Amino acid sequence: MAGGTQANPATLVLARSAPDVAVSPVQAQHQQGADENDDRGALHRSNTGPWCYDFGRFASMKLGIVKVKLDREVNAYVVACSATKEAIVIDPGLPAEKIADQLKGLTVKFIVATHCHPGHVGGKDALKELTGGQTGLHSADAKQFLRSADRYLVEGDELEFGEFKLSVLHTPGHTPGSLCFVVANHAFVGDTILAGGIGKQTPETDLRRQMMSIGTKLLRLPLSTALYPGHGPPTSLERELAQSPIFRGAGASAGR
Ligand SMILES: [Zn+2]
Ligand SMILES: [Zn+2]
Repeated sequence: MAGGTQANPATLVLARSAPDVAVSPVQAQHQQGADENDDRGALHRSNTGPWCYDFGRFASMKLGIVKVKLDREVNAYVVACSATKEAIVIDPGLPAEKIADQLKGLTVKFIVATHCHPGHVGGKDALKELTGGQTGLHSADAKQFLRSADRYLVEGDELEFGEFKLSVLHTPGHTPGSLCFVVANHAFVGDTILAGGIGKQTPETDLRRQMMSIGTKLLRLPLSTALYPGHGPPTSLERELAQSPIFRGAGASAGR
């Protein structure tokens, strides 16, 4: 679905492009031989949002990703098609106004939540009111947490915004209705996977199911896939396989 090649060795090579914590990842194939350590440093640099990722040309289309740091240390993301200015908001926590500040000039088509823990969805209705975007969640979390939405998302759904499509993966475990969203080689993974681990376990968490979801859904994505978790810094599938305790031993057996 992401269409990347599995063989790409490195993932994103980040270069600082502006003083205000803006970074520009460049497709690895254009930057062969770039210093791996630089890459790592840039990914983990500065944690004060919003971050702005400008992905350059991706098959002549441009995708912008802005991270907005919210209450409870939750990351919301604004994903926008630069050509059409249509956007999707992922994880509408609070305060909604802080997200809305990043939406100037954009048309919000969808407001979707990776899951319904309050920090990730508390600003959904306020943001809908502010922007008119259609809200989306998985029905299992709607039931569990007594939330409603305009649309109940299922595995395989594709949400169009401008020249892009956000694909929906149902990845139960952290909560029964946890979702991950994929566009090009970027995956928004909520609390299913964080840099160096997984989201905090709660009474709703089914760890075995979560690991199954990671194994059967996320590990099917190209290794070069960049991961944008619900908390903390971005990472990549390749880096997590190599370094995360949850994959101890799996990186070697993946062998690529
Ligand atoms: Zn959570
Ligand atoms: Zn969370």
